[in-house]
Amino acid sequence: MIKHHPTTTILQRFVDGDLPVSVSIVVASHVEICLHCQQRSMQLTEQSAKALFQQASGQEILVQSSDLDDLDMTIDEISMMDSITSIDVTEDKMASETPLPKTVTEIEINGTRIALPRAMRSIGLKPWQGFGKISRARAVLDDGHLKMSLLHLAKGGGIPTHTHNGFEITLLLESSFHDDMGEYNAGDFIWLDGKHTHSPLTEQGCVCLTVSNDAIHFTQGGSQLLNPIGKFIY
Ligand SMILES: [Zn+2]
Repeated sequence: MIKHHPTTTILQRFVDGDLPVSVSIVVASHVEICLHCQQRSMQLTEQSAKALFQQASGQEILVQSSDLDDLDMTIDEISMMDSITSIDVTEDKMASETPLPKTVTEIEINGTRIALPRAMRSIGLKPWQGFGKISRARAVLDDGHLKMSLLHLAKGGGIPTHTHNGFEITLLLESSFHDDMGEYNAGDFIWLDGKHTHSPLTEQGCVCLTVSNDAIHFTQGGSQLLNPIGKFIY
């Protein structure tokens, strides 16, 4: 059962199209498998549409006549959006997203096959690289200093105790892991930053989708020895 979800602020920015592309992909990948967040997203979308409609209605009396054609069209579009039920919105969205030719739908890593979230299927992956029990495949995505990767930890694999110079989003795609804060299962969306120190460990092995904007910082052990792992993960 999924226990960790994006905050309302993140979901709001997601439905407003106001997130960096890599963050948006991770949130979309979580929403795809989380009924709870699907419902929250639909509610937020409806609220945003209503707010836009009210804003547009209020502005109508202030615009010049030359702008009226455009504005009328905008209001019509928003009115239509407003009158569409939540279910129609979902079906419409799915219908337009279903045919995705020539995209990767699943990957195999160390004998484990996993289905990729729909939002990831048109994103290219660089070859897997390994470092001990950690394997990483970087997404081919130009998103500034944000880096998105698939991360595989083999059975009994873990990452030494660390905190985060920036933020790190982890969407657990397969299996489970635990750290100092608890146990995580497939579908969990975990957002950590410099306030969190942890040492993730997996008994069965796991696959995650991660996005981070800076390196991790090891807090125990010889950081000289560990820093290459940190660079590898980021
Ligand atoms: Zn959720």
